[in-house]
Amino acid sequence: MTCITTAVDGDGICILTIDQPGRSMNVIDGAFAREFAGAIAQAAGDAAVKGILITSGKPAFLAGADLMELEAVFERVADTPTAALYQGFAGFSATLRKMETCGKPVACALNGTALGGGFEIALASHYRVVADDPGIKLGLPEVQVGLLPGAGGTQRVPRLIGIQLALPLLLEGRQLSPQKARDTGLAHAVVPAGELLAAAKAWLLSPAATATQPWDAKGYKVPGGAGGMDPRSVQTFMAAGAMLRDKTYGNYPAPAAILSCVYEGTQLPMDTALRVESKYFTSLFLTPVARNMIRTLFINKGKADKLSRRPADVPRNKIRKIGMLGAGMMGAGIAYVAAMAGITVVLVDQTQEAAERGKGYAAKLLADAVAKGRMTKAKADGILSLIQPTTSYDGLSDAGLVVEAVFEDRALKAEVTRRAEAVMPPTAIFGSNTSTLPITGLAEASSRPERFIGIHFFSPVDKMPLVEVIRGERTGDEALAMALDFVQAIRKTPITVNDGRGFFTSRFCGAYINEGQTLLLEGVAPALIENAGKMAGMPVGPLALADETAIDLAYKIFRQWKLDLGDSFVPGSGASVTTRMVEEFGRPGRKGGKGFYDYPEGGKKRLWPDLATHWPQRPADQQPDVEEVKTRLLYAQALDAVRCLEAGVLTTPEDGDVGAILGLGYAPWTGGPFSLIDTVGVARFVAECDALAAKHGERFSPPRLLRDMATRGDRFYPAPAAKQAA
Ligand code: NAD
Repeated sequence: MTCITTAVDGDGICILTIDQPGRSMNVIDGAFAREFAGAIAQAAGDAAVKGILITSGKPAFLAGADLMELEAVFERVADTPTAALYQGFAGFSATLRKMETCGKPVACALNGTALGGGFEIALASHYRVVADDPGIKLGLPEVQVGLLPGAGGTQRVPRLIGIQLALPLLLEGRQLSPQKARDTGLAHAVVPAGELLAAAKAWLLSPAATATQPWDAKGYKVPGGAGGMDPRSVQTFMAAGAMLRDKTYGNYPAPAAILSCVYEGTQLPMDTALRVESKYFTSLFLTPVARNMIRTLFINKGKADKLSRRPADVPRNKIRKIGMLGAGMMGAGIAYVAAMAGITVVLVDQTQEAAERGKGYAAKLLADAVAKGRMTKAKADGILSLIQPTTSYDGLSDAGLVVEAVFEDRALKAEVTRRAEAVMPPTAIFGSNTSTLPITGLAEASSRPERFIGIHFFSPVDKMPLVEVIRGERTGDEALAMALDFVQAIRKTPITVNDGRGFFTSRFCGAYINEGQTLLLEGVAPALIENAGKMAGMPVGPLALADETAIDLAYKIFRQWKLDLGDSFVPGSGASVTTRMVEEFGRPGRKGGKGFYDYPEGGKKRLWPDLATHWPQRPADQQPDVEEVKTRLLYAQALDAVRCLEAGVLTTPEDGDVGAILGLGYAPWTGGPFSLIDTVGVARFVAECDALAAKHGERFSPPRLLRDMATRGDRFYPAPAAKQAA
């Protein structure tokens, strides 16, 4: 299989075009790495070749490492001696080093996005020219999957642009537009796409063409680095170290490894520095964090994006028009993302003014994009014109899908369902964006329950990548397939779950809030609860999350569930806190300006000081250890995820892990609740939960499914292969 075509033109320029067969994007895998090494060696050894030009035959240049292949390496990690792993990873880095020292000038013509190893090929080239397209992204995002750029990225970026600019790029995995890359000094030129190859070739044939890198010159010093670091660089390292502690609480080993790599690398010649980088890369590879993040955020997310759960026998569907009932916070957001995908939206609300306000939300987001140069005004106007605000349901007569996001009120949802179905074509489906009401019950208002489904978005819709698709008892395959096609069309990631109170995500989120409120009831200091949540890796503490999702909404939901279920409804141990917050103290949450926090106008939120009066706190020497609080918060949710799997709400751990991180920001370093349990070890997790249950209550008692798995020695994901006996 040929991944690279080689052609030497009449001027002696060897053009290497990367174009892997059977893939929409080029990636670095073993076959590519071998072929690339061979192509470079051949070009370097060919006396007729004066210079090397690297480009891609696909719209993107190269997307980075083949994560599926990396996952397979993870599978074998227990059988692979560390030295062999190191050799494997150092191989591609060594190829790039050979390329930059081969004695011939190398130009990289970046016709499209180049990330990770793709961008590292460019960085090792002597000249980088990029097509003038704002959609192109250049960068080293490895840190986001628990790794570091292992083919010279941590060494060449600081050498090219200095430590101060390099560290944020490497530590945050920021991606740059072509212009930004040129302004920062990571690209030499940006030219119109049609002139790209000519520009690269012109440089190769010009007197300016050089076959050396600045860092190989005698007496070279890393800008701000080697040879006695300048005070600003020392400050940068110190600030970066402090920022890391602040941001990661030690959950992520990659940023610290990147910092060490850059620091050590600045003191070393390039060849040694690259070996140091490979050593750090290997050490990160051996941590569970990288494996968990890659599996959930790329492999399993990728499968969800490709609609692996879609009923295969239903033909693909392209929805061109939707009806959106309710133009509030969620309806406005859904209208915007649909219009962005080229879908016409009839945006219905009770008054024309409310519908126009919903459209105004999209207008603002589009105006921002234009102001930031991410979109032309003409394109933004075209997108905005797809949203038709109205009070009339008439426009739904040719919609393929109608989504409702009216108030969380069963009777109201029933009314709008009936009104919409009276107009919708019989082939269309109806999706409810309810966050808590079971779909099967809502479908009772529908004359075609087989075409009724839950399509649950997250706020803010334009930013949140997940959509939870909920199958009611009577939802048919066609509705499921159409809903998934729609989610894919609007470029979101779907998980598919079965019906239940709060489905998966709302229930899972509730477990976190409930544990936070239970801790408050036990007299644990609110600041400790909140900090422990963040230290565990959650985006916000459980009390802050209760404020964000609205305490009064949770209160209404509890009351509704009590009405629906009577005595069989058992509220969580923290539910009394919610009730008092609403009934006694009138604190509805963030939207109402006061909840567990005060939200002073123009100021920073701060914990409500009266919490300590209403829920007396234990003396300081009786406060629990922060590690115990972290464990309780993470485990309470993980147990709830297992209960969802046991109850059939979730049908796979993959959906649970993807949904937990993408929908709710559940500590990404864990890879999600199921990955966390695997990492701890099922038997150990069960034992720890039993101990927590004895101390804090039955909610920590592990479900049957987990106990059985512990007995059998099972895991949720396949184990790395066992080490062979020597
Ligand atoms: P919202 O109060 O901001 O908006 C509701 C909108 O529905 C209002 O504009 C209201 O005028 C409109 N409406 C009421 N009756 C109507 C009718 N008969 N016809 C047309 N429009 C009508 O509420 P929201 O936060 O957008 O939530 C809407 C739904 O989405 C709820 O079911 C909620 O549970 C769910 N949801 C909310 C969130 C969230 O974070 N807010 C997240 C996921 C799901």
